[in-house]
Amino acid sequence: MAKAFDAIVVGARCAGSPTAMLLAQKGYRILVVDRATFPSDTISTHILHPLGASALSKWGLLDRLAATGCPPIHTYAFDFGPFTIAGAPGTREAPVAYCPRRTILDKLLVDAAAQSGAEIREGFAVEEILVEKGRVVGIRGRSKFGGSITEHAQVVVGADGLRSFVAETVRAEHYDEKPRLLVAYYTYWSGLPMDGRFENYSRDKRGFAVAPTHEDLTMVIAGWPYSEFAENKKDIEGNYLKTIELAPAFSDRLRGARREARFAGAVVPNYFRKPYGPGWVLVGDAGYNRDFITGQGIMDAFHDAELCAAALDGAFSGRQPFEDAMGEYQRTRDTRVKAMYEFTCQLATLEPPPPEMQQLFVAVHGNKKAMDEFARMNAGTISPAEFFAPENVNAIKAAA
Ligand SMILES: Cc1cc2nc3c(=O)[nH]c(=O)nc-3n(C[C@H](O)[C@H](O)[C@H](O)COP(=O)(O)OP(=O)(O)OC[C@H]3O[C@@H](n4cnc5c(N)ncnc54)[C@H](O)[C@@H]3O)c2cc1C
Repeated sequence: MAKAFDAIVVGARCAGSPTAMLLAQKGYRILVVDRATFPSDTISTHILHPLGASALSKWGLLDRLAATGCPPIHTYAFDFGPFTIAGAPGTREAPVAYCPRRTILDKLLVDAAAQSGAEIREGFAVEEILVEKGRVVGIRGRSKFGGSITEHAQVVVGADGLRSFVAETVRAEHYDEKPRLLVAYYTYWSGLPMDGRFENYSRDKRGFAVAPTHEDLTMVIAGWPYSEFAENKKDIEGNYLKTIELAPAFSDRLRGARREARFAGAVVPNYFRKPYGPGWVLVGDAGYNRDFITGQGIMDAFHDAELCAAALDGAFSGRQPFEDAMGEYQRTRDTRVKAMYEFTCQLATLEPPPPEMQQLFVAVHGNKKAMDEFARMNAGTISPAEFFAPENVNAIKAAA
């Protein structure tokens, strides 16, 4: 039977829309469905590190984002209490980060997919993944504006986030799982100018981060170990403010600001999933999730979209067997993120760094080149494997 679409993408946010856009640009027939309508928010803070901004730039979308009044961030500052390491997170080509509201970023991505020729159906909830003889062949779902609808495609792309229905249906294999580590809550403040800085505060079993976003608001997220989730959820505001009071200078700044939104919070699992099988693939959080403490998810979703769209193009065009193209996608994804995954999960314990790492951070402090490297490593511009390589560590210690 002729398939109506080359690919149906379930989920239209950071992973789904760019995947659809890149495939549609190559002339493939793409349907994107999402139960949400856009613009809409989702539970996520939204640091977009410089390499994420660089992907937007490559896709011709960074100017559109900048035109929405999203302030650029040129400095990341990590306050450990006794000292602060501050550096530039980007590269010459991609010098700055942003912290765009998801209402704005996700809408921009959905519109870009539509402009590239993908058909977008918002308010459409997928209720069934159609499987014939062990192969995914389409979806059945319900539109907010009508009844039950069935669509067929060569491939169904699960870009449907953490609780991916596509991954669950095909029983995608999980590997390298780690427990839930951190719980955090965030809200937005007015009257808290940041002057292009992202600030991160680490204290024993506590941490918080601050970044400027749209409409002159500043996002502040604060967290504690997951083991304290049940006890602390009885007083979210009190625990949030107590965490911030661990950094008195910042706490003073916050006292002059005004809270403009309710608290939102989350705890997330850490896992990899095999991202492909007969008639299906996974991108973004559906295929790989790491704690949000390092803010890698949006950038990772963009990387996945590029890798996955290129692999599907290879398979659709007959240049490569599907298994080979997708196997390469999985290997490239995993190799790129592995060191950051370990670093992120370690950080998300909120345990003090081991003594040798503390000595290294002391040595980094005050060394401009090393501080820029440290900021770049936290931004995912360079890999933790590169930053913590013995020759780099020895050079930093020798310079100190
Ligand atoms: C508290 C918190 C803070 C975070 N902070 C950052 C940060 O600062 N920087 C960063 O880069 N990342 C951050 N992340 C991670 C980031 O939010 C995710 O990595 C990113 O949203 C992944 O995008 P995605 O497109 O894969 O999934 P999602 O953004 O989750 O999108 C999935 C979409 O699929 C749709 N969907 C799901 N099921 C169905 C269905 N059955 N039918 C139709 N549609 C469906 C949903 O409606 C949704 O729109 C944070 C996450 C959390 C929880």
